[in-house]
Amino acid sequence: MPSLPPDLRDVPPAQLFPEVFARDPHHHGFARGGRTAALEALARLDPVQYGRDRSSLDGHVSRVSPYLRHGVLTLAEVRDAALSRVPASAPSRAWKYVNELSWHDYFTRVYAEVGDLVWQDFQPYKTGWPASAYTHDFPEDIAQGRTGLACVDAWSRELRETGYLHNHVRMWLAAYVVHHRRIWWQGGASWFITHLLDGDPANNNLNWQWVASTWRAFPYIWNRGTLQKYAGERYCAACPLAQGGCPFEDTYAALSDRLFRGKAPAPGETGRVNPARLKAVPWEPPPTPTTAPDAVVWVHGDRLSPTHEALTAYPDRPAVFVWDDDLLRHWAVSAKRQTFIHECVQELPAHVLRGDVAAEVIRFARAHGAGTVATTPSPSPRFRTIVAALQSEGLTVQVWPEPAFAASLSPLDLRVHANYWQQVSASAFGRPPALPKKRAARQT
Ligand SMILES: Cc1cc2nc3c(=O)[nH]c(=O)nc-3n(C[C@H](O)[C@H](O)[C@H](O)COP(=O)(O)OP(=O)(O)OC[C@H]3O[C@@H](n4cnc5c(N)ncnc54)[C@H](O)[C@@H]3O)c2cc1C
Repeated sequence: MPSLPPDLRDVPPAQLFPEVFARDPHHHGFARGGRTAALEALARLDPVQYGRDRSSLDGHVSRVSPYLRHGVLTLAEVRDAALSRVPASAPSRAWKYVNELSWHDYFTRVYAEVGDLVWQDFQPYKTGWPASAYTHDFPEDIAQGRTGLACVDAWSRELRETGYLHNHVRMWLAAYVVHHRRIWWQGGASWFITHLLDGDPANNNLNWQWVASTWRAFPYIWNRGTLQKYAGERYCAACPLAQGGCPFEDTYAALSDRLFRGKAPAPGETGRVNPARLKAVPWEPPPTPTTAPDAVVWVHGDRLSPTHEALTAYPDRPAVFVWDDDLLRHWAVSAKRQTFIHECVQELPAHVLRGDVAAEVIRFARAHGAGTVATTPSPSPRFRTIVAALQSEGLTVQVWPEPAFAASLSPLDLRVHANYWQQVSASAFGRPPALPKKRAARQT
């Protein structure tokens, strides 16, 4: 029986990944990892105030995204918490918050369907510019916060130092990168994934595509008036360009004329995702496996919670978490995010290893004489590859579902959020899923 390398659970990530901690001076982000911290954040959630002021930088946003990203909290339990804070007779008071959670569910489902295509332009840019007009090198002045624009530089610093940006700031920064600097959105998305504690290819890339117009009918832009409406004077008061030269000081029409060649794709440009692929994505309640006597549990980065369904099903069986060296390198994951993940993992009853995930899980299963590996779902294509590798070694892989945020009676139309939301919103509010409404026949 193969022996196991020592347990790395209590080894600080600074010791595991010294090169990352040497180049990144920010070792802690805005949030502590782990279920205790997650529940504290959830206790502060105020869905009613959220509905009133979430667009303002000082509004009541919930800041639970890193916990959702790493499965410390599930969308279903965050939704339940939101609904529990409003009268049962008036769930619509939490409408805005539940609707925002639904964007997360929606983008995650799209990612599960298209996989690595989230890194490609779904559609052409509707800016009149061809994709080749967008630079691939990400500029250092943006990355280091040295553009001379007080707002952009403050956001760049906040991203690097805290791993969090308000949704409005993400939209503004992305629009600056893509439309003012004409940099391909993938460069900005990679930069965000490195630093955001909640960075994931589904919610990050698909929002970048929304801003860029590669998954929307027109590009998102903003102007100084909008900035001041939601952020006040905090940036402009400190900006050397406030009295002249501000690139955001204009009407929307003038900005659009200045930044774009038109409102349609450049001739000959095409996208990479055929909308038909998203029109009827099968949905079935995921089956719950039955326990096997010889299982081990594999905990991965999308569900780092002591409430993990496979850990709960197998409280007495050995569990493993593997730091995915390749992925951490590929995404250049920042020190603060590694600290966050480490803090989550420390709360789990898992043996911690590092390296090639499939190889280490196989080694762990063999060391415990296991024929079954029990885990939880993930939308990522990498997860599927690892599962296939385990199966090719003769292991049975059980996927224990987490509580669903929303259910559907029919295949989901994921072409646009509005269609998906129409199908699932009843169940997202705890009612039975509704059948899609029949469209009234057109009068001729
Ligand atoms: C360019 C860009 C990149 C983004 N990258 C990510 C990312 O990598 N990971 C990520 O989770 N979100 C991302 N978002 C969406 C959104 O900005 C964050 O989810 C939100 O700001 C997280 O803070 P919060 O928990 O305080 O959000 P709240 O406003 O309190 O919302 C609660 C939850 O609803 C969900 N949500 C809210 N807005 C969105 C949205 N537009 N899209 C998807 N889900 C949403 C999130 O799960 C969020 O945690 C991005 C948005 C943009 C414009």
